[in-house]
Amino acid sequence: QIFEYAPAPESRAIVDIAPSYGLFIDGEFREAAGGKVFKTVSPATEEVLSEVAQADGEDVEAAVRAARAAFPGWSGLPGTERAKYIFRIARILQERARELAVLETLDNGKPIRETRDADLPLVAAHFFYYAGWADKLEHAGLGPDPRPLGVAGQVIPWNFPLLMLAWKIAPALATGNTVVLKPAETTPLSALFFADVCRQAGLPRGVVNIITGDGATGAALVAHPDIDKVAFTGSTAVGKAIARTVAGTRKKLTLELGGKGANIVFDDAPVDQAVEGIVNGIYFNQGQVCCAGSRLLVQESVQDELLDALKRRLRTLRVGDPMDKNTDVGAINSAEQLARIEELADSGEAEGAERWSAPCELPGNGYWFAPTLFTGVSQAHRIAREEIFGPVLSVLTFRTPDEAVAKANNTPYGLSAGIWTEKGSRILSMANKLRAGVVWANTFNKFDPTSPFGGYKESGFGREGGRHGLEAYLDVR
Ligand code: NAD
Repeated sequence: QIFEYAPAPESRAIVDIAPSYGLFIDGEFREAAGGKVFKTVSPATEEVLSEVAQADGEDVEAAVRAARAAFPGWSGLPGTERAKYIFRIARILQERARELAVLETLDNGKPIRETRDADLPLVAAHFFYYAGWADKLEHAGLGPDPRPLGVAGQVIPWNFPLLMLAWKIAPALATGNTVVLKPAETTPLSALFFADVCRQAGLPRGVVNIITGDGATGAALVAHPDIDKVAFTGSTAVGKAIARTVAGTRKKLTLELGGKGANIVFDDAPVDQAVEGIVNGIYFNQGQVCCAGSRLLVQESVQDELLDALKRRLRTLRVGDPMDKNTDVGAINSAEQLARIEELADSGEAEGAERWSAPCELPGNGYWFAPTLFTGVSQAHRIAREEIFGPVLSVLTFRTPDEAVAKANNTPYGLSAGIWTEKGSRILSMANKLRAGVVWANTFNKFDPTSPFGGYKESGFGREGGRHGLEAYLDVR
């Protein structure tokens, strides 16, 4: 825990949600040029939270123009001056953390305990960390005078709306770039709140622009000819489409895509600790995490003991109202995502794996899926190969470390892996052989702004976080 947390939010009354929101372009909120809007709902209740402007090509044009006009001024500021703004944003995010935690929980469906204790502290930490870099770019490892790229077009998903925004905007601002960011259509509210934070911080107009909309809005943004850099986090299919759009243009590209992380448990691992790591790996944020430990590889000799302990633990998870401070597992983000999870879980049964779900009463309204695991899974099953992006664990077994490595690597993805063992030498040798951007040892889902994060293979390319996160927004000169 790096930062002091705000006291527990008690209710949604903490945050004011306006009945409608405009696009944030050139320092002002404005209606979409075409006058279109869409609704954003709370996935836990299906209650409409607000109406949000739907940006089209004309709005993208206006946002990019504003970012381009702001670029000379912003990139021309001394790093110490840019840092002051970014530090100010970080402090306001801390001051308003209670409002933002409630807003994020309402719009996304994730438990308030997570937004309060994980998302918001990490968001502030990212801005603090990159604010510190703004006047030290000559130490970025890119020569004595690295230069910003220009205007960054950034498209983010719904699973960590504000944290993904922080991963994109903080390094872009620190390096002197200006930004047009599009949040996901099911979670636009925290990004719009962030626009207000930028205003409160006195950030020069046009430096950050937030346009809300769907995939077509995102496609228009990444295709805009006056964008110098595209940064995307989301599905591998959309990532590939964006790579095709950007190919042959001047734009630089970083992609943060899906995953099928293996959590590898050896027979010498402390069982209780491993169980907590497995739970954190796949049931945190309802499993809607690109680096989730969605495949459990357990050494055959401890399979029964580990699964008994895991099921005992899953029976104690509290599933339900995300606004309740005691809730462990909240709502799935959207009806579409729930349908995807259900379809893949059904395929697991159809292909012969054995399904077990934690006994729990799911609320009547909203989008819910009980914490579930599958045993008897083979590597050929869809649930072992495809990203489910839900609270569903596929359990496979192995006998030797080499077999564990081979199975862990047997995926088109390469984002994350976890190893549970008492043997330090085994951790080091396994970590070297695992084709994954991050390997955790005796822990899982640990994030820190000082560490680069990103994937191998179809999980994408480029790194976010740490010194390496600066490279995506700088040119060597
Ligand atoms: P998505 O890739 O469809 O959407 C992510 C973002 O891209 C959203 O803001 C969306 O509006 C935008 N977008 C959609 N089509 C676009 C296009 N053609 N051009 C530009 N932008 C476009 O992801 P999703 O529908 O939210 O989720 C689908 C799957 O993606 C999930 O099941 C999961 O497997 C994966 N996913 C991965 C991550 C991750 O962090 N790696 C996050 C969310 C979803």
